[in-house]
Amino acid sequence: MRLKNKVCIITGAAQGIGLATALKFAQEGATVVVCDLKPEGVEAAVMACQKLGATARGHTVDVTDRVSVDLMVAAVLEDFGRIDVLVNNAGITKDARLQKMTLAQFDAVIDVNLRGVFHCAQAVADTMVAQGAGVILNASSVVGIYGNFGQTNYAAAKFGVIGFTKTWSRELGPKGVRVNAVAPGFIETPILGTIPQKVIDEMQAHVPLRRLGKPEEIANVYAFLASDEASYVNGAVLEVSGGMTV
Ligand code: NAD
Repeated sequence: MRLKNKVCIITGAAQGIGLATALKFAQEGATVVVCDLKPEGVEAAVMACQKLGATARGHTVDVTDRVSVDLMVAAVLEDFGRIDVLVNNAGITKDARLQKMTLAQFDAVIDVNLRGVFHCAQAVADTMVAQGAGVILNASSVVGIYGNFGQTNYAAAKFGVIGFTKTWSRELGPKGVRVNAVAPGFIETPILGTIPQKVIDEMQAHVPLRRLGKPEEIANVYAFLASDEASYVNGAVLEVSGGMTV
């Protein structure tokens, strides 16, 4: 129960890594706030957390819409009076090579994966600073460290998230708020659905562990970073990729 009574907001928590994180946090005793674009997914995730004995609330939130984010944060404060952890997990891909990428593809990914992270962090920062404690965890990617073919927009956003992490760890660290990023390798979730199997097989062959990661293996890392066990971890980018970049 490493997160007992901690109020934890997780974005993009209707499926994939976000859902696994919500369930892990529920098992660790957290009060879980599930946020996602998809109302049915939010409802199902809340019920799954409650089944594990956790207090859970759901909000249909579009992280690109600041009003939507602010309304959610106000409701969480009304319900629970504090915010201990924010996991900025919501993310999308819209892949194309540089010469083929449309402005719409570029803007959509930057809006969710970069601006959305900024919106959510800014919306909780005053509360965490006033508490003198809090944790912000940002979803980057190995693509945010090394780049990737066909992912100009995604790589820019995920590099940007590392820039946010290092900047906010300097700004908020003195106020008792830790900020870290996780850089997953390739994890078995619906986000990989658009990648051809042949490419996935090739990626797997480059991973020393010879397999993709599971959402739960990222959720475990978020749980550690959110907990007091990580009390001296700040401004870090933790790669969780089975060693694929070694
Ligand atoms: P996923 O597609 O399975 O889930 C993403 C969730 O985010 C979905 O439920 C979706 O509805 C939600 N979402 C999308 N846009 C949103 C918005 N505007 N507002 C609120 N919610 C929104 O993705 P995943 O694989 O679980 O990835 C989660 C995070 O981890 C993403 O940031 C992704 O970039 C990152 N990541 C994933 C992998 C991987 O291999 N799966 C690798 C590295 C990083």
